[in-house]
Amino acid sequence: MSQIDVELQSVVKRFGSFTAVDGINLAVQRGQFVTLLGPSGCGKTTTLRMIGGLELPDSGRILIGGEPLAVDGGASRPTRMVFQNYALFPHMTVAENVAFGLRMQKVQKAEIEARVRDIVNLLGLSVHIGKFPRQMSGGQQQRVALARALVTRPRVLLLDEPLGALDLKMRKHMQNELKKLQREVGITFVYVTHDQEEAMNLSDTIVVMDHGLIVQQGTAAEIYQNPATAYVADFIGEANILTGVFQDDMGGYASATSPLGVLGGRLPEAYRPVAGESVLFSIRPEHVVIGPAASTLDFSQTGVLAEVAYLGGSSRLTITVGQNTLRADVPGLFTARAGDAIAFGWLAENVRILQHDARFIAPVI
Ligand code: ATP
Repeated sequence: MSQIDVELQSVVKRFGSFTAVDGINLAVQRGQFVTLLGPSGCGKTTTLRMIGGLELPDSGRILIGGEPLAVDGGASRPTRMVFQNYALFPHMTVAENVAFGLRMQKVQKAEIEARVRDIVNLLGLSVHIGKFPRQMSGGQQQRVALARALVTRPRVLLLDEPLGALDLKMRKHMQNELKKLQREVGITFVYVTHDQEEAMNLSDTIVVMDHGLIVQQGTAAEIYQNPATAYVADFIGEANILTGVFQDDMGGYASATSPLGVLGGRLPEAYRPVAGESVLFSIRPEHVVIGPAASTLDFSQTGVLAEVAYLGGSSRLTITVGQNTLRADVPGLFTARAGDAIAFGWLAENVRILQHDARFIAPVI
């Protein structure tokens, strides 16, 4: 039977009159890598800090391993936190930094030495064990912070944008290391990031947050293929968003009118609009088919090529159709000129019909 390591029940956090976390429910299973994802200010850090006991909820309950979170767990608390800025003790060596938590827990000296050695080995830090933080790179320092957190064998490791201070290459490298490390140690990781690629690369489950609410959770594939809202479609990957008016639900496929004509698409499971309701369409750029093949699809039309950008493995096309602009990604180098007429189209199974959201109405230019 699966075991729940972290549970949030109707958790609310306010700062003055501002509600940062608005009644969220979440269950994280033991051994999972779960990521809270969302833009700056959506409430993910506040949620993480509450799980870590660094902030108290105004209402609701937080359980770790089925036990209510103690207000001051001290050295024996079941979670440990890793921060973006590493928060290492500058005057302590790697070995001393890593041993610190165990010393606080009054673990015996011989055991401290053995556990520090093991975790330092696991993180590839053995050659740095006598160094001070200032003598190490950002990536190495973050590995020390991870070792320091993991050596105490917490039930849950909480990570707040831990790779945020690293350059892109090191960040990618550390992502792979983190994933491997989490599998090796088998500890539940709750991770916070605003980087959707990082979330997709790392997580068993992604929890997408918006304005203090959880708007969707699932695997990267579930969320990418079946976004619950236009906000999710736009935040996880890229999407062409068009406005429309709902017509009909034919079971499986639904139809709605759009500025391009009537479009067929799929509805999210939990969304059942009525005829005449304002809706949005979401179509991924990689699902827009260009050229003669478009005419064989469920929907096709002709537009004007406004721009082509060659991105190495693919080309990004910008197509205008009347007042509307669409992005299309095609493999390889696309050789046509701006101003050319261009046929485009898509399959209805690649279109999502989503709830209206005023944030996605393009400003009239
Ligand atoms: P970021 O990635 O920028 O940290 P976030 O999604 O993690 O964003 P939070 O740090 O959880 O967001 O903050 C959510 C909201 O609560 C923000 O609008 C923030 O300004 C506000 N907030 C957070 N901490 C406090 C505080 N101590 N006092 C007042 N407002 C706060």
